[in-house]
Amino acid sequence: MTNGSKRQLRMVIDLNKCIGCHTCTSACKMMWTNRNGREYMYWNNVETRPGAGYPRNFQEKGGGFNKDGQLNIGQTPPLEDYGIPWEYNYEESLINGSETSLRPNVSPTWGANWDEDKGEGVYPNAHYFYLPRLCNHCSNPGCLAACPRKAIYKRQEDGIVLVDQERCRGYRYCVTACPYKKVYFNERTGTSEKCLFCYPRIEKGLPQACARQCVGRLRTVGYADDIEGPVYQLVDKYKVALPLLADRGTRPNVFYVPPDSPPRFKPDGSPDATRRIPIEYLEGLFGPRVSEVLETLAAERARKARGEDSELMDLLIGQRQKALFKLG
Ligand code: SF4
Ligand code: SF4
Repeated sequence: MTNGSKRQLRMVIDLNKCIGCHTCTSACKMMWTNRNGREYMYWNNVETRPGAGYPRNFQEKGGGFNKDGQLNIGQTPPLEDYGIPWEYNYEESLINGSETSLRPNVSPTWGANWDEDKGEGVYPNAHYFYLPRLCNHCSNPGCLAACPRKAIYKRQEDGIVLVDQERCRGYRYCVTACPYKKVYFNERTGTSEKCLFCYPRIEKGLPQACARQCVGRLRTVGYADDIEGPVYQLVDKYKVALPLLADRGTRPNVFYVPPDSPPRFKPDGSPDATRRIPIEYLEGLFGPRVSEVLETLAAERARKARGEDSELMDLLIGQRQKALFKLG
């Protein structure tokens, strides 16, 4: 069912609870990418939407598969679109005192989260939400299909997609073919690298660092075939978690509960019947079922508010951390 792998690990991210704190990104960076040529990489990032995303405008760089199943070789984003890491003038500002203010030691014009919290619209109808992104450990990975060295593989036991560092020769076809731009080239090692779904932690029965550290408890982890597990319930039973950019044909295994938003206000100050984040925008990211999902969530929320049971709301609230991670 999953490109040859026996099981598939999945993650569900509830966008209604993300506060954009970047704790997940910091946890990932501290564990995997703060050294040795990986400094510019964010295997996990949290971008403001509407916004350019990370790397900048990645959605326009191609990759994935065409409708007829042909691989769509896209483009490699330039380093500037990722954001070149910079240092600060610590020496001048804090040690010898030749400068009074602390500032970057270069003049950057772009970086990850450069457009954070900008969003779209004007008061009182301004809107934005946070979109955490990582490798989707796709069931039909563009990165894997593009690699002429067969250096990218999908693990049998959990469907995690990895780059064999011994086989990789740094051709970067994987970078161009991933529609999410979640493979990165390490100039120091000359190889491509990507999110490991924290497989060393998974093998010990622990969730990924991003999921474990999430302050909103909004990341749920489990196997696709565990019908008692929270991921199956959210994706397949209640069908409220949707893949990102599913039209790119890679069959992602990270799913999103789309964000609800308050009503728009008319010029006279009274509330409109439409949501502030345009449905068309959300459909562009998560497909045509967004309205249906938001209606389901509203109905279940109302049940809970009336004091009735709602298994779906209990799942999404995730009061107990253990209930979010079903890894057995
Ligand atoms: Fe490969 Fe990109 Fe899918 Fe990850 S998100 S498995 S890097 S195609
Ligand atoms: Fe959002 Fe959780 Fe990441 Fe904070 S740690 S940015 S709440 S996903």
